[in-house]
This record gives sequence, C-alpha cells and structure tokens, in this order.
Amino acid sequence: MTANYRLRQATTALHFPQELGGYRAEAWKPMDGAFRWVKEGEGERIERTDGRPFRQVAFRIAIDYRALPKSYAPFSPFSEGGALVYSGQFHACATAPCEQPGPLPIRISSPGEIVGVEGRRSADRDQFVSRDEGTSIFIGTLKPVDADGFVAIIDPGLPVAAREHLDRSLPQSMQDLAAIYGPLSFKPELYVSIDDEPEKDGRISSQGGTLPRQIFMHFDGEDAKKRMLADSPLWLEWFFAHEAAHLYQQDKSGKLVGDDRFGWMHEGGADAMAALAMVGRGPAERAYVLKRKEEAEKACATGLATTTLSKASAEGKFDLQYQCGLIMWLSIDQDLRRAGKPGLADLNRAMFAAVRSGEQWSQPLFFKLAGELGASPAVMMQIMTLADGNSNDALEALGALGQVANGSLNLN
Ligand SMILES: [Zn+2]
Repeated sequence: MTANYRLRQATTALHFPQELGGYRAEAWKPMDGAFRWVKEGEGERIERTDGRPFRQVAFRIAIDYRALPKSYAPFSPFSEGGALVYSGQFHACATAPCEQPGPLPIRISSPGEIVGVEGRRSADRDQFVSRDEGTSIFIGTLKPVDADGFVAIIDPGLPVAAREHLDRSLPQSMQDLAAIYGPLSFKPELYVSIDDEPEKDGRISSQGGTLPRQIFMHFDGEDAKKRMLADSPLWLEWFFAHEAAHLYQQDKSGKLVGDDRFGWMHEGGADAMAALAMVGRGPAERAYVLKRKEEAEKACATGLATTTLSKASAEGKFDLQYQCGLIMWLSIDQDLRRAGKPGLADLNRAMFAAVRSGEQWSQPLFFKLAGELGASPAVMMQIMTLADGNSNDALEALGALGQVANGSLNLN
C-alpha cells in the first residue's frame, strides 16, 4: 500500500510519538529518496536529508503483520487478502514534542474492495477523521457474519472447527449480554484474522485487543492454524465474551471504567461475566469455565504469597487482577443469589447506573451497592481483605471465597 501525507503548511519533520521498535524505519519506505527516519526519544521523525521543509511525503508499506512492543499492529492481514488497518499508527505531529497527535483526516482508496470504517461499509473508497487512540479500518472483500446487533468478520482461513465455533459463540455472547443489560447503544465490530505464511525471521505471534466499539484477534506466522487448534477453541470464546463484557461496562456506565489500581473490578468483572455467560452453554463450556476458575484461584494464591493485590499492578503482576478478580466477582454473585437476588447482573446494573449519574467507579462504590443489594458482611469483608489486606489474610480470604464462587458456577 502507499501512505501519502499531505500538510496544509510546510514542516521540516513529521513526528511520531512511538518509535515502535524500529518498525517504521524498516517497513515504511519513503517513495522519494530524499527522506530519512530519525529516532527522537521514545518517538521518531521523518525529515528530508537536506533539512528543507516539505508539504508532502509518501511511503510504500508492505501489508504485513508486525508484533509491536505494547502497541497494536498497523496491519492484520486476512488469509485470502484484505486487512484490518490500525489508524493509530499513522497519527503524527507537524511539530515536536509529539505526545498526543491531533485528529488525522484520512482518505482511503482501494478500488474493487470494501472499506469498512466508523460502522459503514463502502465500495472502493471512504474518508473519516481518526482521533484519540485511532480505530481499525477493514479493507477487503470479506462479508460480515450476518447477525443482529454486531458486525463480525471472521477469516475463512481459520481452522474449520474454530470458525464454526465462532459463528455460533459470537452471536451467543452478544445475545446473552444484551438479554441481561439491554442492547448496546452502538453496533460493535468483531474481527478474527489469520495469516499462517511463515515470516522471514520465523516470528510467530497472536494478538487480541480492543478499540472503542471494536474487538479483534490476529494469529500470525508458521503453523498459526495448528497453534490455534492446540488451545481449546473455548479460550477464543472466553476472550470475546470478556471483551464484549468490557463493551457493556463502558457503554452502560457511559465512560471508560478501567482504573488499573483496582483492575480486579473491571478485569475480574469482565472475566466473571464471561464465565457466567459460558457456563450454561453445554458440558464442554462448563468444564472449561471450571478449569479457568481453578487455574485463576491457584494463580491468585501463588501471586498473593509474594505481593498484595493493591500493589500487583505497580509491580507488573497485572494478571492477578483477572485471576483474583474472577474469584471476587463470582463469590459476590453467589452471595447475592443466596440473598434471593439475581446476582452479579444486579450489582453490575447498579454500578453502571451510579457511574452514569456521576459517581466514581471505585471499590467503595462496589461495597456500598453490594451491601444495599443484600450481600453478606462476611463475604464483603473477605473481598475487601483480598483487595487490600496483607498476604496472609488475603490468602485466607481467597480460600473462603473460592468455595463461595463454586456455588456461582453451580458446582457445589
Ligand atoms: Zn479486559
């Protein structure tokens, strides 16, 4: 593809906030030899070798997947052609420092293909303004899975078992959540792509992620299909159910709820929503959810032996927020059910409504609302201890909560 930058006013350099491990310098070839890439701090810039100002610079770029450090790949190719393009990696500033590039108007031209952006699908071309963290643009000929309430593009090159599984499970996850929380205010887009052409350097990777209103997953490199099947297709189902849960958390509470200091609330909450959505679907799903719960409890215990949950994120042990968080939310679910309430769904609805009306998404809000709904002081105290207590107390609380959580999955 070619990327052609045009500026209203001449500049001596275009600045990019992230250097992406040298990816652009290697893969974005200036079509005019008079340009060069220069690293600057965390970022990089493109400039003319003679230092003179310019109003236009064009690149030839191979549409190839690249696993980037802490950042989404610019291209996720589909096996039969077409790609998901992440606009955020194209954002740039005309002046330094470039920490938060401003909005970028983008025109896409791809004759004979469909351009999917901002919820539209247009033939041959489209344009939009990419802002904030950017968005994924679909360019290709694949047709979306026909479903109410969302758009899914699933690579036909996925192993058949995985594809058939996704065709069933994606609509199911969205329907399950809509039945509990009502429909989303927008139509989310779900993308799964695979490219099992071996990479020159033998790189293999897979990456999943989300952008506003979008969930995506890409499998790349030699044996991508085999690697995908080596894991149960159910993990992909869990991944999408988890990300779909985040869409609900954010849409229904009207803002991003994702404070990593107490990540157990949004990550554990999303995992518990995934677990509860999947557990009733069949014996295989049920066994998978049980296994995830056991593994999470074990990993939480191992982690808490050396740190506390409130320090875990700062120490790079963010996984504990999912693992311990799953047990915390499943146990409050069971506790509320014992009190004759529908469980976690009720607490979620109360949380979303409170945040929408201006309260902070926070631990005190969680405990206040859980208490009002009838949660028992004992279980709430154990969850508090797991969230904020020292290692010994937290481990003891975890043991007790793990038992309660079994009830949520009907395992007692
Ligand atoms: Zn998450």
